[in-house]
Amino acid sequence: MTDRYAVIGNPISHSKSPLIHRMFAEQTGQDISYEAIEAPLDGFAATIARLRKEGYKGCNVTVPFKFEAFELCDEIGARARNAKAVNTLLFREDKILGTNTDGAGLLIDIEQNLDFKLMWKDALLLGAGGAAAGVLWPLFNAGAGVTIANRTLEKALALASDFEDCSVFARSFDQLSGRRFDLVINATSSGLQDEKLPLPAGLFKPGALAYDMMYGRETPFMTFAREHGARVADGLGMLVEQAAEAFFIWRGVRPDTRPVLAALRK
Ligand code: NDP
Repeated sequence: MTDRYAVIGNPISHSKSPLIHRMFAEQTGQDISYEAIEAPLDGFAATIARLRKEGYKGCNVTVPFKFEAFELCDEIGARARNAKAVNTLLFREDKILGTNTDGAGLLIDIEQNLDFKLMWKDALLLGAGGAAAGVLWPLFNAGAGVTIANRTLEKALALASDFEDCSVFARSFDQLSGRRFDLVINATSSGLQDEKLPLPAGLFKPGALAYDMMYGRETPFMTFAREHGARVADGLGMLVEQAAEAFFIWRGVRPDTRPVLAALRK
């Protein structure tokens, strides 16, 4: 019998996850289906309850439900515990298990696919939502110094407060002037509305990488980074790598991400 999976978000029509998981399933011979489901903004828990009742085996969770997913889980894997945000759910008969594959996906894309080593690098993480929370600890553990900047400073401060030795800094956008970074990651959803972030010129060190978690379009952040001399990458590689991690958690089989990423880039 075909095992059913899905990605839940709002909005969700842009998601490439169904295509990616179909390619993984074909490549590995796994009998699964995977669809995109839009949950009402006030209806995430009800949507999960429905999927469980209908026999789904698990799901991915995306904007804006990752914190709510964390609250809903009966058991939390180590990778989601620090983030307090969940992007992968596994449904067992009597409980929901949750973990977070965003951080692993980002690290594999940056270090392996883009060949950019994080150790000793000064990284700026823009945003303090579910995606930023998911990648913060993995970036720190990979040896990068991390500054978080967010439109709502309180949220950045809350993320940084988990680091009691003050090794992660929180800033507002207008406190970034005069600072320079090796790596700037856009983990805001500003690109969804083509909105420009108020970033100062001179943000990028020579050889810097500007990484936008958005994919499928040129965002104002990417254009800004190009104009200021940074190497630019979109989030398609992260999307494929985090999906591969979720697929492995569900199916116990690790797909080869390279042909999938190449096919999507075409
Ligand atoms: P959330 O809704 O949890 O957080 C959104 C964040 O974006 C908040 O920090 C918010 O700031 C900020 N923001 C939104 N609009 C603006 C704006 N106009 N100017 C400045 N800041 C803004 O979303 P997620 O964290 O889950 O996702 C963020 C982005 O990352 C999305 O675009 C998502 O598609 C992408 N993503 C990509 C992945 C991939 O695999 N490539 C994986 C995960 C996410 P404030 O706190 O002030 O509201």
